[in-house]
Amino acid sequence: MTEDDVIANYEQVQSRIRRAAQEAARSPDAVELTVVSKTWPTEKISPLLAHGHRRFGENRVQEAQAKWPALKSAYPDCCVHLIGALQSNKAADTIGLFDVVESLDREKLVHAFRRLADDGARLPAFFVQVNTGEEAQKSGVLPADAVAFVDWCRNDQHLDILGLMAIPPQDDPPAPHFALLHELAAEAGVSALSMGMSGDYETAVHLGATMVRVGSAIFGPRGTPQ
Ligand SMILES: *Cc1c(COP(=O)(O)O)cnc(C)c1O
Repeated sequence: MTEDDVIANYEQVQSRIRRAAQEAARSPDAVELTVVSKTWPTEKISPLLAHGHRRFGENRVQEAQAKWPALKSAYPDCCVHLIGALQSNKAADTIGLFDVVESLDREKLVHAFRRLADDGARLPAFFVQVNTGEEAQKSGVLPADAVAFVDWCRNDQHLDILGLMAIPPQDDPPAPHFALLHELAAEAGVSALSMGMSGDYETAVHLGATMVRVGSAIFGPRGTPQ
C-alpha cells in the first residue's frame, strides 16, 4: 500500500460515511472517523496527519507509548483513543498519552482512574464498553448492567463518560448489536456511540454511530509484509 493508496482509501471511507449518514437522514458531520493505526509504524501514520486527519485509535498501551509522543509533539491537536482492553495497573500509563479511553468496563479500573484524578492527574474522556454479545472472552459490561454502570461512573466517580462502545461478535450480523447499543445509550443518557469497523461501518452509521473505528479499509490488511 503506497502513501497515495492510503490517502485515497481514507477519502473513500470518509465519503462513504457521509453518504451513509445522508441515507439515514443524519447530518454528514454527525459521524467522526477514528483511524485505527494499531500495528502500523509512524511512517504509515504521518501522511494522514499531514493530510489533516487528527483522530486515531490504538489497542495497546505499550505500542502507543512507542509511537505517539513523537507524533503528538509534531501535531499537538491530534486525539488518540485507546480501543483495546486496559488493566487497572496500567491506568496511569494512559495519562497524557490517550485523550479518550473507549474500554472502561470494570469498577476496579474506574477506581484506578478516580485515584489518579484525586492525585491531580488530568484524566482522558471515556466510553463504557458494552459486551453486547455477552461473549465470555470479550471485555465490556453486560447489557443489563450498562445503564447502572454509566450512572455510577458519572454521578459517583465523576468521570467524563462520552458514550458507549461495542465490538459485536465476529460471527453475528452486527446490526442487532448496534441497535442494542443505541438503545442502551439513550437509556443511560449519553450521546456518543463508538461502533462499526472496516466491514460494517456503514451499517453502524445507519444505526446511529457517532464514531466509527476503521483500520484495514484504510491501511490494508494488518500483518502483511510491507
Ligand atoms: C482493530 C480494531 C478496529 C479496526 O478494525 P478494522 O477491521 O481493521 O477496521 C476497530 N475497533 C477495535 C476495538 C479494534 O481492535
